[in-house]
Amino acid sequence: MSQAAIAYTQPAYSAAAQQALARKPQLFIGGEWVDSSHGALIDVEDPSTGKVIARTADASDKDIDRAVAAARAAFDDGRWSAMPPMERERIMIRLADLLEAHAEELAELEAIDNGKPKGMAMAVDIPGAASEIRYMAGWAGKLGGETPSPYALPQGAMFGYTLREPVGVCAQIVPWNFPLLMACQKIAPALAAGCTLVLKPAEQTPLTALRLADLVAQAGFPAGVINIVTGLGETAGDRLVRHPDVDKVAFTGSTDVGKTISRNAADTMKRLTLELGGKSPVIVMPDVDVKEASKGAASAIFFNSGQVCVAGSRLYAHRSIFDSVLEGVAAVAPRWAPRPSLDPAAQMGPLVSGEQLDRVMGYIEAGKRAGASVVTGGDSPTSDGYYVNPTVLADVNPQMSVVREEIFGPVVVAQRFDDLDEVAKAANDTCYGLGAGVWTRDISVMHKLVGKIKSGTVWGNCHTVVDPALPFGGYKQSGLGREQGRQGIEPYLETKTVFLKL
Ligand code: NAP
Ligand code: MG
Repeated sequence: MSQAAIAYTQPAYSAAAQQALARKPQLFIGGEWVDSSHGALIDVEDPSTGKVIARTADASDKDIDRAVAAARAAFDDGRWSAMPPMERERIMIRLADLLEAHAEELAELEAIDNGKPKGMAMAVDIPGAASEIRYMAGWAGKLGGETPSPYALPQGAMFGYTLREPVGVCAQIVPWNFPLLMACQKIAPALAAGCTLVLKPAEQTPLTALRLADLVAQAGFPAGVINIVTGLGETAGDRLVRHPDVDKVAFTGSTDVGKTISRNAADTMKRLTLELGGKSPVIVMPDVDVKEASKGAASAIFFNSGQVCVAGSRLYAHRSIFDSVLEGVAAVAPRWAPRPSLDPAAQMGPLVSGEQLDRVMGYIEAGKRAGASVVTGGDSPTSDGYYVNPTVLADVNPQMSVVREEIFGPVVVAQRFDDLDEVAKAANDTCYGLGAGVWTRDISVMHKLVGKIKSGTVWGNCHTVVDPALPFGGYKQSGLGREQGRQGIEPYLETKTVFLKL
């Protein structure tokens, strides 16, 4: 599909959105909106138009120190951790209610800031953010230790038990692809465990995090429990990661930055969880309904313009159906043609930034130079926004950068296979291990592939399904630890063992 330039006109913003864009650039620290210690600002763009629409504060070292001090004080005096868990749960649920009550406005801000269609944000991001908080709120009152019987000690001489305690002050650093959802996925387990936190949104997408701060104040969290600071990763983020008064870092973003953070957090032995990149395979077996599987494979890569850590970016179709799967994906690609995020017909928006556009187009060009052929897309419509057409590349080989590296755009590479072991080996031939999709009606083949694939999540006949009750995270270089579910709250808890001589 090579699409001529179309008129990309972003509809007007609502009054509520305009008000949010006009807010004074400030930081949310200690329950108050405060000015930064220096005047530096960061431009915020609408990726649908490429226009600067707002400015946010670029937190200085002093600002970060102030935010950490606020979180430290709020943790140390127990204003949150010592509150009855029932109260903590109640306040968290109030926040979830407020997110839902403001869904329309938050979805619009997400669309303006990130470029995703407002309808997608309404269906996925905002309800997802609220349900992360709702689910974790329930854990606040269900944590506790154990009373194991000693094994090598005389019975009755010693009483041993464990306590679970909140880990302390958390630094939470999130990316731009699902700004509010990622922010809520991070803050929810920390709050349920009784921790306090400093959240730093991505420089490109601060708008919903700032509105979240307003709602935090309304929900009744004590001052200093949740602090939200806008700023750059290399300065504000780095300061948080190295700060001696921060006990735990939780990060979602690129694998490269994850490695840097891992090194920088080591000096103070901070607790660390990392949700990093991926290059997730989608495997299509010969017994499927080809039309349905092709549609699924297209959604797996084009959803959120491919800016999804679990995007199905490597398509493996059985040799006997390879051509028809490719035809099927190409046939639905026009439905994913990029449009401005507030256009009600939009299914896919632009990429988040000019930098991301250059990066994605750079990969497509490198693929072509290395011999890949373009089945559909491969180009960027002429516009001031950051649009890329949904792209399928074939005639690729496992050495090409388009096959090995995370592109983070609407670009899928398609390869053939003949048998199960071969495709499992190909699927695992990556430094990543975040997600994988398997399409088959054969339950035995499904279970065999589930067992062979090295990734944190495997989807059968679907893709990108997540739920707050089920753990999410990566094998290999896709991350460290798990978020969501019971496992997602563990990294926010220390275990204290107590021995009492009787
Ligand atoms: P990134 O640099 O990893 O950014 C993620 C977050 O980390 C942002 O808040 C960022 O701040 C912050 N950060 C950056 N350097 C830091 C440091 N040294 N210490 C502490 N925090 C730091 O991701 P990106 O630059 O936005 O995107 C680059 C590539 O990463 C993408 O093309 C994509 O391949 C991948 N990515 C993956 C995911 C995922 O979910 N797996 C998400 C986003 C991006 P700034 O906003 O100032 O950079
Ligand atoms: Mg960055």
